[in-house]
Amino acid sequence: MAIESNLRDIRDRIASAALAGGREPASVRLVAVSKTRPAEDVREALRAGQTVFGENYVQELVEKAAGIQEAVEWHFIGHMQSNKVKQIAGLVSMIHSVDRLSLAEEISRQWGKLGCCCDILIQVNISGEATKSGTSEAEALQLVRAVAQLPNVRVQGLMTMPPFFDDPEAARPFFAELLHLSQLIEAEGVPGVEMRELSMGMSGDFEAAIQEGATLVRIGTSIFGTR
Ligand SMILES: *Cc1c(COP(=O)(O)O)cnc(C)c1O
Repeated sequence: MAIESNLRDIRDRIASAALAGGREPASVRLVAVSKTRPAEDVREALRAGQTVFGENYVQELVEKAAGIQEAVEWHFIGHMQSNKVKQIAGLVSMIHSVDRLSLAEEISRQWGKLGCCCDILIQVNISGEATKSGTSEAEALQLVRAVAQLPNVRVQGLMTMPPFFDDPEAARPFFAELLHLSQLIEAEGVPGVEMRELSMGMSGDFEAAIQEGATLVRIGTSIFGTR
């Protein structure tokens, strides 16, 4: 029950934030972050019409997905070790957290074995915090160019995690910077690369992210409760 009403509330807030930013509500997709939550919570969200779910840990995702019969669009959003890619090949439809060429190469290799292509986002560490994953802003274009050469991945956009602030307005400049970077990369016209997705915004700051152009918001706590 709580999950259903939380989802309704979040969808309303997403729509309001989009309209406030002069955007179509349908241009923002909700990724329900179900990490650490049981499969039953995912099922409850599915019954409430949620279809896209984000997970951070390979083992947890594989086990959870095995217990769910319904069609789920899984997105991998956490830090990824290359040696674990094969466990989720074909299972996830998007990986948000590609921050190095060696990882993209492994994703391409594993999806290639299946004869298909994986949609990926390049994770950028806009704030430059040492504790955060992501390629630096300065190296993002170079990484995009290198990844674009790989046969079985498709770059669809960028992802970022700003520093944590109590005030969501403090995160806004980091979201604006990611949009700016995606426009710079788009302008380079790298063959095969699209900059149509911006994955940014979590429970505490998704409205600011949407106003700055987010197309994918990753929300856990506000849907499933505190972890
Ligand atoms: C956990 C997590 C989220 C969701 O965070 P909430 O604050 O619970 O909404 C979003 N993105 C990433 C990468 C995460 O690890």
